[in-house]
Amino acid sequence: MGPVVDPVEAEHRIPSSVDVVIVGGGIIGTSAAFFLAQKGVSVALCEKGHIAGEQSSRNWGWVRKARRDPREIPLIVESLRLWEGLNGEVEGETGFRRTGILFAAESDADVARYETWLGHAQPYQIEARLVAGNELDRMMPGGGRRWKAALYCATDGRAEPQKAAPAIAAAARRAGAAVLTNCAVRGVEKSAGKVSAVITEHGRIACNTLVVAAGAWSRRFLKDLGLTLPQLKVRASVMRTAPLDGPPETALWCNDFAFRKRLDGGYNIANGNVNVVPIVPDSFRFFSNFLPALREDHKSLKLRLDGRFRQELHEARPVPLDQPSPYEETRVLDPAPDSEYLRTALDRLVEMIPSFAAAEVVQEWAGLIDVMPDAIPVISGVDGVPGLIIATGFSGHGFGIGPGAGRLIADLAMGVAPIVDPGEFRFSRFSDGTRVRPIAGI
Ligand SMILES: Cc1cc2nc3c(=O)[nH]c(=O)nc-3n(C[C@H](O)[C@H](O)[C@H](O)COP(=O)(O)OP(=O)(O)OC[C@H]3O[C@@H](n4cnc5c(N)ncnc54)[C@H](O)[C@@H]3O)c2cc1C
Repeated sequence: MGPVVDPVEAEHRIPSSVDVVIVGGGIIGTSAAFFLAQKGVSVALCEKGHIAGEQSSRNWGWVRKARRDPREIPLIVESLRLWEGLNGEVEGETGFRRTGILFAAESDADVARYETWLGHAQPYQIEARLVAGNELDRMMPGGGRRWKAALYCATDGRAEPQKAAPAIAAAARRAGAAVLTNCAVRGVEKSAGKVSAVITEHGRIACNTLVVAAGAWSRRFLKDLGLTLPQLKVRASVMRTAPLDGPPETALWCNDFAFRKRLDGGYNIANGNVNVVPIVPDSFRFFSNFLPALREDHKSLKLRLDGRFRQELHEARPVPLDQPSPYEETRVLDPAPDSEYLRTALDRLVEMIPSFAAAEVVQEWAGLIDVMPDAIPVISGVDGVPGLIIATGFSGHGFGIGPGAGRLIADLAMGVAPIVDPGEFRFSRFSDGTRVRPIAGI
């Protein structure tokens, strides 16, 4: 079972008509709903399960600029600015704290990679730097002896995945958004080629704009609109401990493990370098799109043929809009965690930081991450489908950038000057001849 998420009150009836419908109540959909409602735009946020039931409650909770893809840096800078004032803005607790994050450099090649990244980050005056020796030892006991150096960004931080999107959704609701849970959107109606309504399991909602922020379901949803989104899923697992005294406040990533302190005094721990890739029918369809990413990350990706193949084959079939959709069949995607990788991570963590030996593991869970071939999201309108905005494919780092992305989506939906240039996130990069690939060596 997934983590317990703060509950959010929802409407009992769907509105018949709004300006904007948002599909998906994760950090992206809730943030977009909040910024739109704040501006007086009428919004319906439709979530098939509960708010933050999928990736947005299952992630590590890292909010970071460090090691960001350079194409995302302007947006994460804005996002951190928004996180800073978010508790006040939403009058709630998102768990955001600036506690610093360290990325260990275990080899000379890692040091060179981080130096390259610092070069990319330099124009944005991010306070990140390499630390080593005694200074690193003071931050992370044993780190100075064990590693060549570490990339440190003091102004990076953490927020609570089980609290943040719910707090933002509640604020969106107070600002006037209709928050609809257990409300799957089955499909879309168009009129003269333009989005004109969605069909939910509870009826029709007319709208001018539709935002698809459906995480791992976006590929399936957009296929019904005749659009091909080259998106696959990666499974990542997390364990949570009971409150624990002793280990550091600063979050750490290294090859063997990653951890960060939680607001409740416990820790989230994960394997730093293992992600499981279920082989599904789309793996073959999108093989060539993902080949550069596979080459870049082949050491950390473990391919698996398991029940997901049949599940996705089953879910791909077309379903008439007056019948229950795959979105209702699976209210909350809740994959089984890959426990063996978590146990290995904990063993190695205890070897390095003995205060973790007292850790009582109280829960494990997994999430399916929506990944794109170039590991950056799509936040974009779509040529030929007026009224549609896609916001998906955050590729394992959408929690931290969520508020910034929500603000950008709101700007695009309202047709005002966007908070950052959204060009890198355009959907058309998959069809306009762009060489779509991750930036190597960062
Ligand atoms: C284990 C793990 C660790 C991670 N660690 C980090 C981290 O430390 N920092 C970071 O920044 N990011 C991290 N991420 C990534 C981050 O969690 C995601 O990028 C982010 O949560 C994506 O948010 P989202 O709103 O796009 O998607 P989601 O949170 O997945 O939300 C999509 C929602 O859409 C709903 N939905 C789908 N289809 C429909 C439909 N037809 N009708 C109605 N509702 C629908 C789903 O039920 C779901 O709730 C991690 C992810 C995982 C799994």
